[in-house]
Amino acid sequence: MRHPEDELAELESASLKRNLRPVDSPQLPHFKVNGETLLNFASNDYLGLANHPSIKAAYQEALEQWGAGSGSSRLICGSLPPHRELETFLAEAKGTSAALVFSNGYATSVGTLSALLQKGDTVILDKLSHASLIDGARLSRATIRVFPHNDLTKLEKLLQSTTEKAPPHSRTIIVTESVFSMDGDISPLAEIIALKQKYGVLLLVDEAHGLGVYGKNGMGLSEHLDCSSDIDFHMGTLGKSAGVAGGYIACSQPYRELLANRARSFIYSTAPPPAQSAAALAALKLIHSDEGTQLREKLWANIRYFSELTQSPLASSAIIPWHIGDSASALALSNKLQHEYSILAPAVRYPTVPRNTARLRITLTAAHSNDDIKQLYHSLAAS
Ligand SMILES: *Cc1c(COP(=O)(O)O)cnc(C)c1O
Repeated sequence: MRHPEDELAELESASLKRNLRPVDSPQLPHFKVNGETLLNFASNDYLGLANHPSIKAAYQEALEQWGAGSGSSRLICGSLPPHRELETFLAEAKGTSAALVFSNGYATSVGTLSALLQKGDTVILDKLSHASLIDGARLSRATIRVFPHNDLTKLEKLLQSTTEKAPPHSRTIIVTESVFSMDGDISPLAEIIALKQKYGVLLLVDEAHGLGVYGKNGMGLSEHLDCSSDIDFHMGTLGKSAGVAGGYIACSQPYRELLANRARSFIYSTAPPPAQSAAALAALKLIHSDEGTQLREKLWANIRYFSELTQSPLASSAIIPWHIGDSASALALSNKLQHEYSILAPAVRYPTVPRNTARLRITLTAAHSNDDIKQLYHSLAAS
């Protein structure tokens, strides 16, 4: 029998062991970690909504009105007004006829792909797709094909060979992200849509890092590129820019009903706390409002400022990878920033990213000040 101590020692010696960081204050740009006050460049709370007074107020109000928990799965007796209102808003914002809300993004990916696909179907994923999408694909027992990151030529080859021999009634779906979670770059959505249409297949786009960051109303890269109506499944999380928690799929009404009947992470799981959904709805409405536009402008001003300081091309999103290579060096730099400069910029290593592409994953938010960003830049320059 394997001993866990041996497995942990192996991870440690490969600089791949992870440790939970005890955070002792709310998720803010300056926060307390293990007794130290650090400048936070690790959070996905891109607009600073996790501690926004009106989102907290919406949470409190819904808590009073609807209670702490949902009591059961949505399908039994847990389908409460905050869930339904959130779904109505999401469908409208995404321009689809329906939406379905899950407890989080991970449950959304896993539940959706495993419900949509079965043996004989094919899922074609971008190589850098999030673990939750890969896990959903695996669970479905469909054939999994992977194209190199954003490589349209290879994607088309896979579409050709798949659709040539696809059994009748089988489903083929392309899965990609709008903004990639570890590289912060964006996908060529318009070109992928052209291919999806040419080969008559489905498309799922995960907007986990696009929501709140892109689009006139902050609804993501698909809104920014004006291609929302060509996407079959809009996926996202309400735990990043929206600052709360939850996951969603916006899609057609029949697909929504199919998911509600087949997605096991939806069916066999207690519905999200109603107050969580109410707070997420308040966050989406804020993202849609003038205040949301201002927060998005501040976020992009921060992204521009950091790109200027580092004399790099303008970053494509709030996620800025600081490439290192080997895990030990990435970890050493992250530790140095933390202990000498009080900056949290975590090292991201295998298996989250491919081997030998370890990096610091720096995230900027609208809540950072110019001074915060200058401090980050000077610390990196001195390290
Ligand atoms: C974070 C993330 C998810 C999972 O969302 P959670 O709500 O955190 O479970 C899914 N996809 C991508 C691309 C993500 O970055």
